[in-house]
Amino acid sequence: MAEQTITAERESSLIEAVPKRLFINGEWVDAEGGATLEVLDPSTGRLLCTVADASEQDGWNALKAAEAAQPGLAAMAPRERANILMRAFELMHERKDDLALLMTLEMGKPLSDSYGEVTYAAEFFRHFAEEATRISGSYQTAPAGGARFLVAKQPVGPTILITPWNFPLAMGTRKLGPAIAAGCTSVLKPAELTPLSMLALADILHEAGLPAGAVNILVTSTAGKVMEPLIRSGIARKLSFTGSTGVGRKLLEQASERVLRTSMELGGNAGFVVFEDADVDAAVAGALLAKMRNTGEACTAANRIFVHRSVIDEFASKLAAEMDKLPLGRGVEDGVRVGPLVDAKQLDKVDALVTDAVEGGAKVLIGGTPVDRDGYFYPPTVLTDIPSGARMRQEEIFGPVAPLTPFDTEEEVISWINDTEYGLVNYVYTESLRRGIRVAEAVESGMVGLNQGAVSNPAAPFGGIKESGLGREGGDTGIEEFLETKYIGIAM
Ligand code: NAP
Repeated sequence: MAEQTITAERESSLIEAVPKRLFINGEWVDAEGGATLEVLDPSTGRLLCTVADASEQDGWNALKAAEAAQPGLAAMAPRERANILMRAFELMHERKDDLALLMTLEMGKPLSDSYGEVTYAAEFFRHFAEEATRISGSYQTAPAGGARFLVAKQPVGPTILITPWNFPLAMGTRKLGPAIAAGCTSVLKPAELTPLSMLALADILHEAGLPAGAVNILVTSTAGKVMEPLIRSGIARKLSFTGSTGVGRKLLEQASERVLRTSMELGGNAGFVVFEDADVDAAVAGALLAKMRNTGEACTAANRIFVHRSVIDEFASKLAAEMDKLPLGRGVEDGVRVGPLVDAKQLDKVDALVTDAVEGGAKVLIGGTPVDRDGYFYPPTVLTDIPSGARMRQEEIFGPVAPLTPFDTEEEVISWINDTEYGLVNYVYTESLRRGIRVAEAVESGMVGLNQGAVSNPAAPFGGIKESGLGREGGDTGIEEFLETKYIGIAM
């Protein structure tokens, strides 16, 4: 539910107030030569504002600032770093109305989703504030005696962080939280489509007391040109990326030149399985969450829904009825649950995937064609009888489209689930604990939702296997990605 009244004046005064320059070395600066890029409102296609568009030189300035600030942040008392994160957590809550509205305006998601993301995003700061003071090592006698092993943890050094447009705030805090907690400075590049949330966050971090240069925000319309030399320079010792598998692969190649530590949170192709013994109503509620959160634009979105043949008709009609009820509109409007897709490219992609499936024989229960109005709207869509060769069996849909396929046996559905290069998350609905555990162990993914349609939690390790990525964010492993292990052998 919206927690504020939105008027056109409120929208424009918020956009007016947000910083629109680059944040480098603790200061707001214009891009070299004054270049700017446009930020659009996906619900109308209209211009929201322009923002400084960083050049290669701006990129170098940001990385040099991170390099210069590194020794100071590493030497800062862990409790002090924790206090900065905790203060930023509190400021995010104090400013949740602004942050949520800003995110809805630049990305399109319904305001209720944006409030959820602000809370989720802030939680990474609290979680890693608590972790900052628990970084520890070990001391041990060598097995053969005669020496001692001292094992310490140290920050990896300056980092490059790159985030996508679908969770403009949380994908940033999920990296910045552990980086700051571990004592690593950073250059963060948000997506060109949604830079405003991260710029607003820079203000918060500054106010929370983060030293100059510890976090630098670069917005650019030429990501490859600006980021590649920085990655290849070796000045940063770590690259943490969230985005598509295609770009991730390219960045891994660049990072290999100077052997950077890498974390890759990449694409997903989540399977959602409903067994014949499942609570069908609970499965429908879970599918609604796993499919419609963020208007389907999530790496964790249920992309392939497999339902046992004996319950598929009941499941399909209940899911279609629930999805059909969701109000569609501008995310700022009261009660809206389905916002626009982020841009025309995303809308065309969803439309092409649905057309391909329907031409191959899929049946449309609801939706199935773009909404005829300004902005980039695609309606909630439920498809059945998905042909096995349909592109959407292999490609991320990233939209409010639920494709249903019947299955007969556990063995068959596990093989279908695993028939993808992705391995981020899968969802399993069954009332049998034994079957649930068996299937959860057999599916190839970094995460499994067992009788639940959402798995993201800052205190749990988030990440994928196969081509969905490397490393984990959140949980107690998230901070390890930003720490090196140093072993000191001591002669006795
Ligand atoms: P994307 O096209 O890969 O872009 C992600 C980020 O990389 C953006 O900031 C983008 O900048 C930047 N980028 C693109 N090309 C680059 C290059 N050559 N060098 C350096 N940076 C470059 O992905 P997206 O479309 O924004 O996001 C959707 C994807 O993210 C989906 O595949 C989704 O599954 C994945 N995702 C994964 C997770 C996860 O945790 N596993 C979470 C959320 C999203 P510009 O946009 O400014 O060009």
